[in-house]
Amino acid sequence: MKILEGEPLAKYCSYRIGGKAAYLALPKDTEELVALLTWAKARGLDFEVIGFGANILFSDSGYPGLIISLRDFEMFCVRKDDSVIAGAGVALSELVNFACGEGLSGAENLAGIPGSVGGALRMNAGAFGVEIKDILIRANTLSYKSVKEKVLSVDELVLSYRSSKGLNGRAVLAAEFAFKQGDKSELVLKQEEIKRLRAERHPLEHLSCGSVFKRTELAPAGKLIEECGLKGERAGGAEISQKHANFIINRGNAKAKDVRELIRLARSEVLKRFGVVLEEEVRYLGEF
Ligand SMILES: Cc1cc2nc3c(=O)[nH]c(=O)nc-3n(C[C@H](O)[C@H](O)[C@H](O)COP(=O)(O)OP(=O)(O)OC[C@H]3O[C@@H](n4cnc5c(N)ncnc54)[C@H](O)[C@@H]3O)c2cc1C
Repeated sequence: MKILEGEPLAKYCSYRIGGKAAYLALPKDTEELVALLTWAKARGLDFEVIGFGANILFSDSGYPGLIISLRDFEMFCVRKDDSVIAGAGVALSELVNFACGEGLSGAENLAGIPGSVGGALRMNAGAFGVEIKDILIRANTLSYKSVKEKVLSVDELVLSYRSSKGLNGRAVLAAEFAFKQGDKSELVLKQEEIKRLRAERHPLEHLSCGSVFKRTELAPAGKLIEECGLKGERAGGAEISQKHANFIINRGNAKAKDVRELIRLARSEVLKRFGVVLEEEVRYLGEF
């Protein structure tokens, strides 16, 4: 396994933004991941495990330690009765496709969410009233501290809205999901309908990290930002999407600092107008 030096992080996230990682590696299995963690620890390097980078904003100054990208990791997806077991590096969309194709119902509303199975667990990804926690049975995880594997049940993972407390200090290696028997052609149609709705509502023609902010108790963050009149606001190459105000898009040459400027603007205007503190869903990596 190669450890790349000075690797541009823009290649590893949906925003296509970011400086260089001091070190970056793409392990294919648990053995390689364990070797990398041991290597980083022996050198006192910070490290971060990422999936497809669909929810990450990397700093313009990059990351000073080791980025471990799991996009080539444990690429299996297998059926066991009415459950499916998938490796952390499998695309969530592939898991959804696989389940629908097998006539297994439960994941169809998650169609079209970018990212990996591991990232989806970490973020408890969700859409159209369904979250990962609704279909998850258990996950095989690796402790960063002891570098030992442990299977955790869905309760032990403590998943809530875009949060997974039980995964703090752990990497997801693989996960098992529960499904119900369904009609294959109906599931495939439903999946297509969900993808159509997403394309209608979201600016998928531009680079982004999806929703920048979590929803608030008052209203969806996008609605509050829109009511502040911020749609179309720009900073450098970044823009608050005209189509959906909770998306800050990269118009092609945005820097992380541009995205951050718009995040600050949205936070301060929403606080002034509604007294609501917006909390980011996007994860920052590197120095900000
Ligand atoms: C166009 C667009 C639309 C989106 N729509 C939605 C949506 O509808 N609903 C939704 O919930 N999200 C949405 N997102 C956000 C994103 O798709 C999800 O958060 C997704 O689950 C991220 O997966 P990832 O593999 O890219 O994780 P990454 O972005 O790589 O990582 C996210 C976090 O998880 C951690 N992580 C990743 N993999 C692992 C692992 N194996 N073990 C431990 N930690 C890990 C990372 O360190 C980071 O903290 C959207 C994003 C885009 C770009």
